[in-house]
Amino acid sequence: MKNVILTGDRPTGRLHIGHYASSLKPRVELQNSGAFPEIYVMIADAQALTDHFDDPAAVRRSVTQVALDYLAAGLEPEKAVMFVQSQVPELFELTAYFINLVTVSRLRRNPTVKAEIAQKGFAESIPAGFLCYPVSQAADITAFGATHVPVGEDQLPMLEQAREIVRRFGELYAPVLTEPQAILSDNPACRRLPGIDGKAKMSKSLGNCIYLADGEREISQKVMGMYTDPLHLKVSDPGHVEGNPVFSYLDAFCRPEHLAEYLPEYASLEELKAHYCRGGLGDVKVKRLLERILQEELGPIRRRREALEKDPGAVLEMLQRHSLRARETAAGTLSQVKRAMGIDYPSGMTIAID
Ligand code: ATP
Ligand code: MG
Repeated sequence: MKNVILTGDRPTGRLHIGHYASSLKPRVELQNSGAFPEIYVMIADAQALTDHFDDPAAVRRSVTQVALDYLAAGLEPEKAVMFVQSQVPELFELTAYFINLVTVSRLRRNPTVKAEIAQKGFAESIPAGFLCYPVSQAADITAFGATHVPVGEDQLPMLEQAREIVRRFGELYAPVLTEPQAILSDNPACRRLPGIDGKAKMSKSLGNCIYLADGEREISQKVMGMYTDPLHLKVSDPGHVEGNPVFSYLDAFCRPEHLAEYLPEYASLEELKAHYCRGGLGDVKVKRLLERILQEELGPIRRRREALEKDPGAVLEMLQRHSLRARETAAGTLSQVKRAMGIDYPSGMTIAID
């Protein structure tokens, strides 16, 4: 079986360093590893509409922004098929067949969906499409025969749901679908980046992000204004690194060469943390280190993005071309699915009416 990647993002805004750490950077590395002959990266606009149906224009605008982030971060159109979900109608047909294989109570139990329903304040007014988005995600993944899905930790329940659907489909009809597996970053800190406000998750919807497109000054202001340990008031106070997003970001992005260059008095991040915990190390010094690291990581991405932004037409043209390629693959899976279910009526067949 060949290795196939399918992954994606909701166009609910520009991409942030949480996406970059958990999914985008690993995707670029997997792309460059050559181990994956097929890579599909989907801009999930239909999924974004499940909770942004009242503002389709914002979703539409974000499609180009996300595509720019992809290209700026190093995805290459020759190696990865970058497409727009709504332009591949086969995905919605697959969803229609999969939706009967899941119960409403199973969907309600999905921990990520549960947390998002609470966060969005849906209470009992949950849009049906929102509750069902894990099913459409299963369609997206299986349509491309994905074996691997690089994601952040919050997506694990979606992968589990997709695997359940694949198994159920196999039991009921025929084993034509592929069970996908998640690829999580080796670095646990990259799997779920907290927000700059200290909330558990950096999220476009929570407005607590450092974006890939942020300018140098914005990055500096955001880092300097970050939530830290509220008990660490004076430099001499002992500090806490757990629940302190500055240290979470350092865990995600700081490499030994960064310390050697910017704070050579510390041999390792562990030493820096130990000093903070004992007291005597100020937040500003730690934030300066983080700022330098982020500027170094994000500077080249921003410069590539600025160059690409000059020709948005070329980006849209690429998305259109790639969406057609994605349709071809998805159509192949759809016909296998219909054959397995016995609903592949021969063309030209007339249905007799008694
Ligand atoms: P929204 O709030 O609209 O859901 P989001 O910021 O959660 O936006 P998604 O488009 O839902 O972003 O997620 C895209 C990918 O990024 C997924 O693989 C998800 O696991 C990952 N991801 C999202 N937020 C984070 C985060 N804070 N840390 C690590 N990975 C993340
Ligand atoms: Mg999300």
